[in-house]
Amino acid sequence: ELGDPVLSLRDVSVRYGGVVAVDGVTISVPSGAIVGLIGPNGAGKTTLIDAISGFARSSGVITLGSDTLDGLRSHRRIRAGLGRTFQAIELYDDLSVRENVLVGLSGRGMSAGVDEADLDEIFATLGLSAVSEVAAGELSQGQRQLVSIARALAGRPRVLLLDEPAGGLDTTESAWLGERLKRIRDTGITILLVEHDMSLVLAICDRIEVLNFGRLLAGGAPAEIRGDPAVAEAYLGTG
Ligand code: ATP
Repeated sequence: ELGDPVLSLRDVSVRYGGVVAVDGVTISVPSGAIVGLIGPNGAGKTTLIDAISGFARSSGVITLGSDTLDGLRSHRRIRAGLGRTFQAIELYDDLSVRENVLVGLSGRGMSAGVDEADLDEIFATLGLSAVSEVAAGELSQGQRQLVSIARALAGRPRVLLLDEPAGGLDTTESAWLGERLKRIRDTGITILLVEHDMSLVLAICDRIEVLNFGRLLAGGAPAEIRGDPAVAEAYLGTG
């Protein structure tokens, strides 16, 4: 029942000197889905997001809809319909939530195209309406994470790449975040979610891909991945 692929990776590799951080990964991300990307520390998850978003040089083929992204600079990939967040949230603590989102856009030369009504809709989807004029420095970690997601959404992406959005959140905040991510998906935006919080991943993902030592170890529905002995071993084992 999952949609046609909107983001496709074919034989994608990233090398850092002698280290093969991502090694021949082929993944299709179905349109309108939340796809989890999991794996032990150092498995290559962030590097794969960097490759998709143009922050790391990769070999292989990456397509978004009918566009081939390979060789494009990151700002061109944003224009083609990608949005992303980073593991470390960087907000201007003295600026309001709304200003943080607008500053993020102007950094990409996009502020002229942003509509206040669109922003209000994004804040409503993320549960940020009540704090949209509050300084970012006053927010909880969970709210800060949502602001960084709002900033990515303001570029109107088709596909949103999230790098450990539940990092530093408690279980209540993480569950709240999960509900918000499902709402984003329900607006038609596809999400590729790198995340260590397995209860969040199992709760909201339509499909899960597992990386280990840069390679794709398994891919499937959450129930399949949860019961896969190779996945359990990768997490417990030698790495
Ligand atoms: P974590 O869950 O700990 O964030 P990860 O799965 O995101 O890990 P990556 O951060 O993508 O893993 O790292 C994959 C491999 O690539 C690791 O061996 C890492 O040391 C290496 N690596 C990542 N970035 C660089 C870099 N800029 N230069 C050299 N090696 C790098």
